[in-house]
Amino acid sequence: MKFHIQTWGCQMNDHDGEKLSGLLERDGFVPVDSPEEAELVLLNTCSIREKAVHKVFSELGRLREEKERRPLLIGVTGCLAQQEQDALFRRAPHIDFVLGTMALKQLPRLVEEARAGRKKVMDTGEYPDNHLFPPEVTRRRGTAKALVTIIEGCNHACTYCIVPTTRGAERSRPFEDVLEEVRGLVAGGYREVELLGQNVNSYQGGCTFAELLERVSEVDGLEWIRFTTSHPMNFTRELARVLATNPKIAPFLHLPVQSGSNTVLRRMLREYTVEQYLERLGYLGEGRFKLALSTDFIVGFPGESDEDFEATLRLLDAVKYDGSFSFIYSPRPGTAALRLKDDIPQAVKSARLTELQRRQGELTLASNRREVGRTLQARIESSAPMEEGHWLARTASWKNIHITAGAGRLLPFGELVEVTITEAGPHFLRAEVA
Ligand code: SF4
Repeated sequence: MKFHIQTWGCQMNDHDGEKLSGLLERDGFVPVDSPEEAELVLLNTCSIREKAVHKVFSELGRLREEKERRPLLIGVTGCLAQQEQDALFRRAPHIDFVLGTMALKQLPRLVEEARAGRKKVMDTGEYPDNHLFPPEVTRRRGTAKALVTIIEGCNHACTYCIVPTTRGAERSRPFEDVLEEVRGLVAGGYREVELLGQNVNSYQGGCTFAELLERVSEVDGLEWIRFTTSHPMNFTRELARVLATNPKIAPFLHLPVQSGSNTVLRRMLREYTVEQYLERLGYLGEGRFKLALSTDFIVGFPGESDEDFEATLRLLDAVKYDGSFSFIYSPRPGTAALRLKDDIPQAVKSARLTELQRRQGELTLASNRREVGRTLQARIESSAPMEEGHWLARTASWKNIHITAGAGRLLPFGELVEVTITEAGPHFLRAEVA
């Protein structure tokens, strides 16, 4: 049976897609590149924002027409599946099965039951060993960097966020397991890993997150370690020291702040003030200037005044983030923020987002321009030239590079090459092989 998995959302979801793909391939299912070729389509969903949910329902609508023309099994997994559960069958009766985020390993059973003709098959149970997925089963997507789960779930309770409901409480993988997986990945040719979790720095798998980073960095042959994502209140001095001193940790820190206003942060239940956030960044000392910093912002959160938004802009200017992800607040069912009045007009929300992104664009361009003339290492991320002689790569600080290598020259996928930066744009750098 041919299958296709369509994934929306974060790296955790991407990696879940790799695990689900592995389970199906282990049972003889064959992956195909498009839903049109597939006999089984699995929608691996995200429910963090309304837009992501719309995309899922629009795809479900398209698949209903497809299913009217030919036999097709449709499964839904990911955060929307965990959140909506059997309500999904009411909204889209052509769905054959619903698989929760904490029941990944049940996929083969659900597929079998649906193939046998059982209707509305569902498992959204909280299996306590979900985070202990056998790495040898995972079918990786052929990216230069390998994703490695170290912790699942979240013990925070940000009022806008559905993740603690859809992913459950924190469960850490034992560090020995993580190390074994990383050693296996390096033996298989990977030189870069990204440690994943909703909140990696509250890791407790037999050591602290800072200690885990040190241990992973001792794996011979591994070049760069990344991690995502972090909560500022779990960002410790010990972690800052490791980031600032361990040469294998890629010099990039994504530390979501969400707002520059203490009033808004309190309503978001982020558990820190702007001053405490800045204090955490201060733990890095001089090391901070070796790191590229990025963050997340939500604009238009209920009650966000012009002054609150100005405070966010002041924070942006003060920290001078190298990059940020910013979104308009999107009320989500099941979250505590629904009780707050979503009182900011859409036009105001949009104008704030535009202004924030404009200012971030200037900062990012300035940060990119500082790279021009430098010779540095970048990892080749395209397995073939994008167009004649042009290749995609990433710096350790997570900047996109377009390398001009000259027609006919082959660059080694997944390996580091030395490049000289020749030009900076708002979204990427241009470089030549040094
Ligand atoms: S820290 Fe907050 S935003 Fe992040 S996953 Fe947990 S609840 Fe959601």
